[in-house]
Amino acid sequence: MYKKLFIPGPTHVVDEILEAMAVPMIGHRDKLYSDLHGQVVTKLKKFLQTNGHIYLSTSSSTGMMEGSIRNCVNNKVLMTDCGAFSKRWAQIATLNGKEIDLIKVEMGQATTPEMVDEYLSKGGFEAVCITHNETSTGVMNPIEEIGALVKEKYPDVLVLVDAVSSMAGTEIKVDEWGLDVVLAGTQKAFALPPGLCVVTVSEKAFQRSLDVENRGFYFNFEELEKKAIKNQTPATPAISIINALNVQMDRIFKEGVEARFQRHLDMAEHVRSWTRKNFALYSDENYLSPTVTNVHNTREIDVVNLNAELAKRGAMLSNGYGDLKGKCFRIAHMGDLQVADVQWLTGQIDNILGL
Ligand SMILES: *Cc1c(COP(=O)(O)O)cnc(C)c1O
Repeated sequence: MYKKLFIPGPTHVVDEILEAMAVPMIGHRDKLYSDLHGQVVTKLKKFLQTNGHIYLSTSSSTGMMEGSIRNCVNNKVLMTDCGAFSKRWAQIATLNGKEIDLIKVEMGQATTPEMVDEYLSKGGFEAVCITHNETSTGVMNPIEEIGALVKEKYPDVLVLVDAVSSMAGTEIKVDEWGLDVVLAGTQKAFALPPGLCVVTVSEKAFQRSLDVENRGFYFNFEELEKKAIKNQTPATPAISIINALNVQMDRIFKEGVEARFQRHLDMAEHVRSWTRKNFALYSDENYLSPTVTNVHNTREIDVVNLNAELAKRGAMLSNGYGDLKGKCFRIAHMGDLQVADVQWLTGQIDNILGL
């Protein structure tokens, strides 16, 4: 039986988007493709408020997390560990032979500008990598403030942002906030199927990349740019998903960008108050994510069993990630879910647990 997804990726995909994928195939060197690519990039630039480069990477986001490191860092980079995804990015940097320094924060806590300042003041960093929305803990890190700090005090340091589970669910002003690379997969708040990653690259980051050794081919900004100027990609792109993204951007503008972000906050507010009433919020109240809530399992319910019961009713949520398995569970409220959906979900949970 089909289950409505309340997990932080992949997320629920509406029929109109599924239908936008089921259209005749076009050649990726055909003008039809270039027209499509150009339209998508124009809409993304408007949405993300950037005049920088935008590349469409046919990969999961992890691919471009690796790509951004390969393009922007020769030697040393500042990484964070505030949960599973930031930790993964740090691991990627290390596996690619880069020297890292690591800001380690407690699970459920945010990475603050003060922490970034303290580490960057040691000197020698080419970039700092920040996970905007740490999906494993339900924390949204203050990238606007971090961007402002780096721009003012460390103008040579590039700011790379993993916005995988925040982009399209909350505002990101790429240029104004001084963000050099911002990447996100389509299967989270964009509410498309998985397989495509959108990445913004500032001119500064692009120019820097030209001097970095050993960038490889697939994620190489220079190779991507050579084709991007013709509204193409170096290798065959996920055309069906790009078509769906084009339709989704229209849907986003039609709903209204502000209205979309407000809907995310409204869903989050419902889930948070339900959580406060019945369980507890795991993460710092000052940095709660608008797209996913990490519920501290204070009743010690059996999360696997809860999900099995929800499956019978046509829904699925997520267990705690990694070390938080069983100790927490996560309700995603992103993409094309509506307030009525999360109200329905918490109602089902109340019913199953007898709350
Ligand atoms: C989901 C997620 C990723 C990984 O994305 P993939 O598309 O599975 O590679 C990375 N970072 C964050 C914050 C995520 O939520």
